[in-house]
Amino acid sequence: MTKKIALITGGVGGIGTAISLALAEDGYFVIANYLVPGSNTAWIQAMQAAGYGERCAACHADVSDFAACGAMIEAITAQHGAVDVLVNCAGITRDASFRKMTLEQWRAVMSTNLDSAFNVTKHVIEGMVARRFGRIVNISSVNGSKGAFGQTNYAAAKAGIVGFTKALALEVANKGVTVNAVAPGFIDTPMTQAMPQDKRDEIVTAIPAARMGMPQDIANAVRFLVSERAAYITGTNLAVNGGAHMYQ
Ligand code: NAD
Repeated sequence: MTKKIALITGGVGGIGTAISLALAEDGYFVIANYLVPGSNTAWIQAMQAAGYGERCAACHADVSDFAACGAMIEAITAQHGAVDVLVNCAGITRDASFRKMTLEQWRAVMSTNLDSAFNVTKHVIEGMVARRFGRIVNISSVNGSKGAFGQTNYAAAKAGIVGFTKALALEVANKGVTVNAVAPGFIDTPMTQAMPQDKRDEIVTAIPAARMGMPQDIANAVRFLVSERAAYITGTNLAVNGGAHMYQ
């Protein structure tokens, strides 16, 4: 198999690490983008422990910074080759009821969770179109479809991701490039581990599958959407939420 390169933004996070391991298992050379200095260490150890140490790299950039994303893609292309698969996974929460939400909380979530899709995709799309192959998967959220108390910023950004996905999918559908979103439900990662236990328990009670999702549940959806088998699937927002929200 020709070496295919997959870039995962926020790749060292909970879901990002599971996606990294799954795509490495499927034969990709996996590059994880990270923000916090040192947060790549545990990721590299996990990749090495799984036997993928020779087929991975970590790359620093703030995905809310357009120029930094351009520099990251340039460095990846020079060092490893063109990006065939992009998973826009970096994300944050800055929850507050709308009446208490600050402009900083709004802007932080919009720039990290929505602008980031533009910032990174913009630098890889021309190459994908030129090579007549590309896979883009954007990580949205159940809360972008159904809303969530205290998350006007997050829900707006994630709903925006779905619109971005569909519009871009239309533009590149005849160029061998698919663009899809995966909408996780409530997944057991540092993002949700930061919530109080009683709130976590309450959410699980409302999930028909009677458990939190695991990062691997999301990784399995992503690995399918980037595979050859999913060549005819584009513009979808695939719900992976244990039945918590059925919107199609
Ligand atoms: P996580 O906090 O474990 O991982 C997110 C990663 O993004 C972290 O490594 C973080 O450092 C990185 N990041 C944040 N800002 C960044 C920036 N400006 N530049 C580069 N990297 C940045 O969280 P997770 O649960 O793995 O979330 C991954 C994605 O899944 C996010 O987009 C999140 O919104 C989405 N999601 C998660 C859940 C869930 O229940 N965990 C549910 C729905 C959607």
